[in-house]
Amino acid sequence: MTVLPVIKNIDIDFKSLQDKERSIYFDNNSTTEIDEDAATSMLVAAESGYGNPSTSHRHGRDAKIALESAREAVAKFMSANQEEVIFTSGGTESINTAINSAICTSSKKRIISCKTEHKATLSKLKSLDKTHDIILLPVDNDGRIDLNDFKQFINNNTCLVTLMAANNETGTYHNNLTEIIDIARRHGAATHIDAVQVAGKESLARFMDMGPNLMSISGHKFHAPKGIGALYISKNTPFVPLIFGGEQEFAKRAGTENVPSAIALGIAASKARYLSDELRDLFIHLLKNSIPSIAINGALGVANTVNVGFPGVHRDALVTELSNNKLMASTGSACTKGTTPSHVLLAMNISEEYIHSSVRFSFSKLTTKSEIEKSIPIIKNAYERILSISG
Ligand code: PLP
Repeated sequence: MTVLPVIKNIDIDFKSLQDKERSIYFDNNSTTEIDEDAATSMLVAAESGYGNPSTSHRHGRDAKIALESAREAVAKFMSANQEEVIFTSGGTESINTAINSAICTSSKKRIISCKTEHKATLSKLKSLDKTHDIILLPVDNDGRIDLNDFKQFINNNTCLVTLMAANNETGTYHNNLTEIIDIARRHGAATHIDAVQVAGKESLARFMDMGPNLMSISGHKFHAPKGIGALYISKNTPFVPLIFGGEQEFAKRAGTENVPSAIALGIAASKARYLSDELRDLFIHLLKNSIPSIAINGALGVANTVNVGFPGVHRDALVTELSNNKLMASTGSACTKGTTPSHVLLAMNISEEYIHSSVRFSFSKLTTKSEIEKSIPIIKNAYERILSISG
């Protein structure tokens, strides 16, 4: 498909980016390549299935059937019931909706989260610091919460505990999550899991079994398009919407549904293939052999992610040099650029030597062993080149 000529300045040759021979894409925590079936179905739905699912004529009914079958697939993927899943515009909206609902349905004032959460959580919580008592738990050098810290802060005035399943920059799990959710529940606090970085990489059943009230996922992290996600709201959880208007999404998220993207999300969810540690571990092994001075930041967690410190070089220079050599990696988070150090690595007390020199490599179900092997000399050459330039 050609890009619409009516939009000025869009003459980028996107097609060439897809040429696998030409680049290695190790930035899947930022976003993933869209699944072909998801893309095709989305296009068909946009072109032909344009009915509004809230109308009762044929076009509307067909759109509604497609929307509900997508919801069924997403609910299955989340190990949830269909009526417990609403579509949103992505992870950020799901997280904001979850936090907003927890504070609107409770008179309690404490919210507990963690310093290494995604900006979607941290910025929302910052906006509440005049009205709420926000506790951001510290982490250790590996990026993990100490359960005793949590126990010290949880009390009967806590309305919400919100934590991520795995960190987007390091892949590290909050490994005490089961106990934390259990203790929070016993104190009458609502619980929310930001599952954005585990969804599509491993089964969500393990996290659902912990019994959270709310759970967020985002489509573009597992081969669905951008701008679509879902929020799980367990049956008995009191809920107040973030967005008011019509009665769509069980009256929990107003606005005409994004049917094409919801269909694509359902397809990506039903095609999810969980990852093993194998490729990541091979990558670490080969890279350490090739550049012994590297450091791995954080405890290894979700199977697709590794955050590597390269002493003596700046992360932006390295990422640019890698990109020039057709290897796409990133400096950690799309929200952390330039001279601002990563809030995740800062919270982990990573040494100065590594904090500005850390690069995240994140794989997907499409990553191959051959790509892992090919990437090592590219990284080594890029590293040595920057090191020699910077003296
Ligand atoms: N939570 C985590 C852990 C993320 O990594 C991201 C995106 O990077 C988000 C939330 C936000 O998701 P979205 O880009 O769909 O708004």
